[in-house]
Amino acid sequence: MTAEHGGSLTVVGIGPGRLDWCLPDVAARIASATDLVGYRRYLDLVGVETTARRHPSNNRVEADRAAFALDRAAEGGQVVVVSSGDPGVFAMASAVVEQLDRWPDRWRNVRLEVLPGVTAAQALASRVGAPLGHDFCVISLSDVLKPWDVIERRLDAAAGADFVIALYNPTSRHRPWQLGRAVEVLAVHREPTTPVVVGRDIGRDGEEVRVLRLEELAEAGADMRTVILVGSSTTRVLEGRPLGASVYTPRWYGLPEGQRPTAVSNHATA
Ligand code: SAH
Repeated sequence: MTAEHGGSLTVVGIGPGRLDWCLPDVAARIASATDLVGYRRYLDLVGVETTARRHPSNNRVEADRAAFALDRAAEGGQVVVVSSGDPGVFAMASAVVEQLDRWPDRWRNVRLEVLPGVTAAQALASRVGAPLGHDFCVISLSDVLKPWDVIERRLDAAAGADFVIALYNPTSRHRPWQLGRAVEVLAVHREPTTPVVVGRDIGRDGEEVRVLRLEELAEAGADMRTVILVGSSTTRVLEGRPLGASVYTPRWYGLPEGQRPTAVSNHATA
C-alpha cells in the first residue's frame, strides 16, 4: 500500500568503517531511522546506536534491495539505505535512482536524499600522504555488472592518459585472474617501478597499508577488502619518511624545476 504522504528514503555512505569517519549528518539519520536496509556488517562496523528495524540483505541483489527500501518509504517509513564509503561510488545510490527511472509513476510520494561519505580511495590516500594530488580516476575491476573488455579499454585509456588510477573490487574468489590481467594492461604504459599503494580494511580493525611497485602488484595478495592506487608517471615515493608522508603526486605537470609556479593562483587552490 502506498500512502498519499509517503516517508523518506536516504541513501547514506558510512565511510570506510569507523564512527569518526562517518559524517555527523549520516550518523544522525541512521539514529533516527525507522528502517535500515543494507549489509548488517556495515551497520555493526560503524556502531551508530539505533532502534531501527534492520533488513540485512545479500550483496548481489541491489535492485531488489532498492525497490524494497522504496516500498517501505512509500508506506511512510524513514528509511535509510546504508553503503560503505560513499553511496555514489559503486554503491546503492544509483541502484535506487535506477528503480525510479524504471518505474516513473511508482514511489512519487517518497522524498529521496543522498548523503555523501569518504570513499575508500580517499581514505587510503590519506594514509600515505597525497597520491591523488593530481588528476585521477576510479575503476572497478568487477566484471559482474560490466563486460571485461570495457574494463580493459578503460584501464588502457586511463593509463595511456597518465591518470593516477584507483582500483576498486580488485579480485575475489570468483574473479581470480582479473587483477593480474589489469597489471599487464597498465604495464604497457607504466614503468615496472611505478609506485602502487595497497590498502586493506582501511579505517577498520586490522588495517594494512603497503607501498609497492607495479611489478609486485599481481602477487600482492589483494581481495575484496582491498583498494589499490596505481601512481602516474609523476607519482613519487619519499624513502626514509614515515608511511603517512611517503607517497605523493605533485600538482605540477610537465614543467621542469625552475619553471614551476611558486605561487598558486586562486582558481587552483584547494
Ligand atoms: N562505496 C564504496 C565502494 C564499494 S565497492 C566506497 O565508496 O568506498 C567495494 C570495494 O571498495 C571493495 O572491493 C574495495 O575495493 C573498496 N573498499 C571499500 N571500503 C574499503 C576499506 N575500508 N578498505 C579497503 N578497501 C575498501
